[in-house]
Amino acid sequence: MKRVSIVGGGIIGLCSAYYLAKEGYEVTVFDQSEMNDGCSYGNAGMIVPSHIIPLAQPGMIAQGMKWMFDSQSPFYVKPRLNADLIKWGLQFYKHANEKHVENCMPALRDLSLLSKELYQDFAKENDSFFYKEKGLLMLYKTDKVANEMFHEAKEAERLGLEVDYLTREEVSRLEKGTITDVLGGIHYKSDAHLYPQRFMEFIKKELQHLQVEIYSSTSVKDFVFDQNKISKIITSRGTFATDEVVLAAGSWSPTLAKKLRISISILPGKGYSFTLKDENHKPSIPSILCEGKVAVTPMNNDIRFGGTMEITHTNDTKINQNRLQGIVNTINEFYPEMEVEMPKVEDTWYGFRPCTPSGMPIITKDKKVVNLTFATGHAMMGLSLAPATGKIITEIISGKTTSVDTKMFQI
Ligand SMILES: Cc1cc2nc3c(=O)[nH]c(=O)nc-3n(C[C@H](O)[C@H](O)[C@H](O)COP(=O)(O)OP(=O)(O)OC[C@H]3O[C@@H](n4cnc5c(N)ncnc54)[C@H](O)[C@@H]3O)c2cc1C
Repeated sequence: MKRVSIVGGGIIGLCSAYYLAKEGYEVTVFDQSEMNDGCSYGNAGMIVPSHIIPLAQPGMIAQGMKWMFDSQSPFYVKPRLNADLIKWGLQFYKHANEKHVENCMPALRDLSLLSKELYQDFAKENDSFFYKEKGLLMLYKTDKVANEMFHEAKEAERLGLEVDYLTREEVSRLEKGTITDVLGGIHYKSDAHLYPQRFMEFIKKELQHLQVEIYSSTSVKDFVFDQNKISKIITSRGTFATDEVVLAAGSWSPTLAKKLRISISILPGKGYSFTLKDENHKPSIPSILCEGKVAVTPMNNDIRFGGTMEITHTNDTKINQNRLQGIVNTINEFYPEMEVEMPKVEDTWYGFRPCTPSGMPIITKDKKVVNLTFATGHAMMGLSLAPATGKIITEIISGKTTSVDTKMFQI
């Protein structure tokens, strides 16, 4: 059977490894990290068929410009005179229109719903990762945001998703875990959540059973070509022969693609999270606190808060205290009973969301390098879309018809 090498052992790489190994391929995963704390571990754990509108959307540029001047805002682009940033910005501008959003919505919905079905299958097998289907509450405090949320919810309903429009009182009746100070909320019934670290542990065990070889702390340095094919992968632990390659290196994908003389535009969107244990008055339903774009997820007995999107570079590992304070302020404004304090730096996690300027993931075979397939650029939906991505990557490599149309997931 063919050997498939996967570059990157985040959730996208590991889910790809799972379905490829199930199909009978001989799979090896390489990851430069210890594989215990990257973007796929500390995220908010939401599985979000509700998120059908990509980041590149009308109004986003004007809103982003306003946020640029607020040190506690949830979105920020670190200004730099850098060719990659300029290219990304121009492409984002090109995509931020109604027509693009209209094309993306059904594609994202189909990928998300497939992923949710696959998570249900995993959870039936062994729910060690606390998979729950409680939906997602979009909570808001202002009329302006209420109008935006209504518009998005109507689009979601048009595409067949189940949505409830809740008053302030109805939110309080549904969210019994703590007091919510909101104007109202939208409840997307389609959504689910899980504990990301636990899922990563689960999938690694599954891969062991499937005899997938995982090389952690192993950096992929370069590739050897044989005509228009990659024949070998050069790593910090030696050189490995391969028949197929999956590039699933998240925010580092463009650096590796450059070694293959391919240009892809992805920038890291840095975000933070912190997890509280044994809180008394904590929310019981996953929520997004819309004005501050803070994600709130109950994870077994813990509660995780995540937020901010700083478009930056992968060497920028600093925890920005102002933006963290912005997250804490939002939590206390929405949940006055919680009285959350600023987390210590050592208790604050950060991760790099791999953001494409179109807001769409890249799940496709390369046009020139015939044995190279991309599985990257999932931005704020990588956990949500990972199982479906893995399944589709396997179908692409096997030359089968894909379970969902991949036309919107090209480079
Ligand atoms: C605060 C926050 C909250 C989030 N919440 C959610 C959520 O609720 N739901 C959701 O769906 N998504 C969420 N996300 C997004 C999600 O976490 C990401 O989309 C997802 O983790 C990306 O997975 P990945 O496998 O593509 O990348 P990564 O997890 O970054 O994996 C890429 C891997 O490639 C490896 N690598 C890079 N270069 C090399 C090399 N040269 N050699 C070997 N290995 C290499 C890296 O070490 C890394 O482990 C959130 C993100 C953040 C930051």
